Amino acid sequence: MKTETIAIHSQNIVKSATGDVTMPISLSTTFLRDETGGYPGGHMYSRVSNPNREALEEVISKLEFGEATCAFSSGNTAGMTVFQALKAGSHIIAPDDMYWGLKKQLLTIFNDVLTFDFVDLTELDKVAAFINPNTAMIWAETPSNPLLKITDIEALGKIAKSNNLIFVVDSTFASPILQNPILLGADIVMHSTTKYIGGHSDVLGGSLTTAKKDEFWERILNVQQTGGAVPSPFDCFLLLRSIKTLAYRIKGHCENAMKLAEYLDNHPKVEAVYYPGLTSHKQHEIAKKQMKDFGGMMSILVKGDGDNARKVVNSVKIFAQATSLGGVESLIEHRASVEGPDTKTPQNLVRISVGLEHIDDLIADLEQALG
Ligand SMILES: *Cc1c(COP(=O)(O)O)cnc(C)c1O
Repeated sequence: MKTETIAIHSQNIVKSATGDVTMPISLSTTFLRDETGGYPGGHMYSRVSNPNREALEEVISKLEFGEATCAFSSGNTAGMTVFQALKAGSHIIAPDDMYWGLKKQLLTIFNDVLTFDFVDLTELDKVAAFINPNTAMIWAETPSNPLLKITDIEALGKIAKSNNLIFVVDSTFASPILQNPILLGADIVMHSTTKYIGGHSDVLGGSLTTAKKDEFWERILNVQQTGGAVPSPFDCFLLLRSIKTLAYRIKGHCENAMKLAEYLDNHPKVEAVYYPGLTSHKQHEIAKKQMKDFGGMMSILVKGDGDNARKVVNSVKIFAQATSLGGVESLIEHRASVEGPDTKTPQNLVRISVGLEHIDDLIADLEQALG
């Protein structure tokens, strides 16, 4: 089956005793045992598994070509679970342009337990120099937040494999529609399902999908089931509902974003546009090789300073000035002030999540906001 079909049909309709065409929300926290002590319904207690989460995990596994998926209550929890599953003393090579919330976990929660280097993963010849005897993992994020850097997943995967390192890719910006890291050599792919997979800015969640159910996956599964930071059945229901339209939403995001990027690229008040679909993007060729299309995220540098950038985000009428991404509504934000005083993000950077409104309205809105 192709992606569009999997997205709609993966949840086994006949599983429901009442024949529902959409999966009912199963709120029960506990499940009946039979005389032998077994669980004929396949579930024991809803922290460990429940029908809605199982269906969500199954469809994400299929979309990402993995053997298994763990769903979590947020993207950050998914990331944290990977860090928790590592042995104490492990060293991680992470991207310099890492999602700030995950970087913050390493710096403030795992700083006594793990060691790490933040490396520019677009310069692969520099990566090997950071590998030491305790290095256990390479963590990549592509496209990256907020600079939209593209890492060559296949090439980095080879470096990871030849050094026996676990290779994880945060593929949130791409969604499973545009890029499948496991097919390119990743061991684990992570999503903040809050973003494109949810797609409507109304549910928080995360996922990890593994290429193989190996020993490290068992550790992750243990953190998920014993730790219990899992999505509720209703969260899973919303995500399953969203996944059915994911492929079509992504088409619209990509189409709008390409047009907006071309418009902004020619705008006299814009100093730079970071969008992997532009031929001027430094890693455009890599993006073309590993992504089906270029996604709905971009960042721009507004000519001038932070005040000029803030003026733009304060002047929009259709874009909503808010953080996050991947929803049907277009969002715009002054990224440096979201990340706080320690950020390395340029003060004149504006991050844009291109939604599914008509492109003419989006361009007209930025036209007036850029003045
Ligand atoms: C949002 C995001 C996360 C964190 O996900 P939450 O659902 O907000 O916890 C991680 N990585 C990337 C790239 C993100 O955009």
